[in-house]
Amino acid sequence: MENRNIAELLKASGFRFNKALGQNFIFDTNLLDAIVADSGVTKDDVVVEVGTGAGTLTSRLAARAAKVISFEVDTALQPVLSLSLQGLDNVEVVFRDVLKLGDDELRAIVGDGPFKVVANLPYYVTTPLVMRFIESTLDVRSLTVMVQKEVADRFRAATGTADYAAVTLAVQMFGSAKLTRTVGREMFRPSPNVDSAVVRIDRERDKIAAEDVPRVKKLIRAAFAMRRKTLVNNLQASFVTPKEEGTRLVGELGFSPTVRGEALSLDDFVRLAHLMDKH
Ligand code: SAM
Repeated sequence: MENRNIAELLKASGFRFNKALGQNFIFDTNLLDAIVADSGVTKDDVVVEVGTGAGTLTSRLAARAAKVISFEVDTALQPVLSLSLQGLDNVEVVFRDVLKLGDDELRAIVGDGPFKVVANLPYYVTTPLVMRFIESTLDVRSLTVMVQKEVADRFRAATGTADYAAVTLAVQMFGSAKLTRTVGREMFRPSPNVDSAVVRIDRERDKIAAEDVPRVKKLIRAAFAMRRKTLVNNLQASFVTPKEEGTRLVGELGFSPTVRGEALSLDDFVRLAHLMDKH
């Protein structure tokens, strides 16, 4: 079905966009195809989409992929989707909240094999959704997601910059992110108050040892807990590390006692975790 007809169908069905669910839909076919191209999805791929909406991205994905499994929480979209996705036999719409499904439940729906996530994400849960997939035990190969431009900048920020945040490192722990395109707010219905960007995160296995993951995460959380504080002060606050010991650890790492967490790379955090173990 043509996208402009889907827009009319939504209107005719009395559908009301739900802001709280992050419902900003895309109807522009060129943009939808560009997102699919950015994702690198091919005929061999299973795709998981989060947020079917009116099915506009779903159907463009279905044209390129082996199979599309699309999750949606809003059952009010069901009547429109039964028409907009009619006849597409490689699409399955699952009316479940992805954030409430554990890996085993997801595996039962998606299968054991590899898959790629492609989504125009609901903005209110962008980071939890990205983390949900990037950290999972499932065979997620990549995530190509439309997010707020500022969030995209944080995902791919360089060490020491204003955008560099705990989430930058969380993404780096499991993969590498690149911005594939920026998208103006006028491309969405209804139009949000912010511009957006498409980010592709390619998952990289064993970037850091599995046993290091929990303590490196804890350390990153602590280091960014109070951004204006020094790393030594943040360590003291979160780990009850005496100030002299914190200063010594940071010195051993090769930094000055007044360094802030944002100056450390992922590799520095891994080294710091190991140093803290030794002491
Ligand atoms: N893919 C469509 C498009 O590009 O036009 C819709 C994108 S819209 C930004 C996000 C969609 O995600 C909405 O339809 C919303 O109802 C749905 N959604 C919100 N939270 C969700 C969740 N936790 N699990 C699954 N879908 C969710």
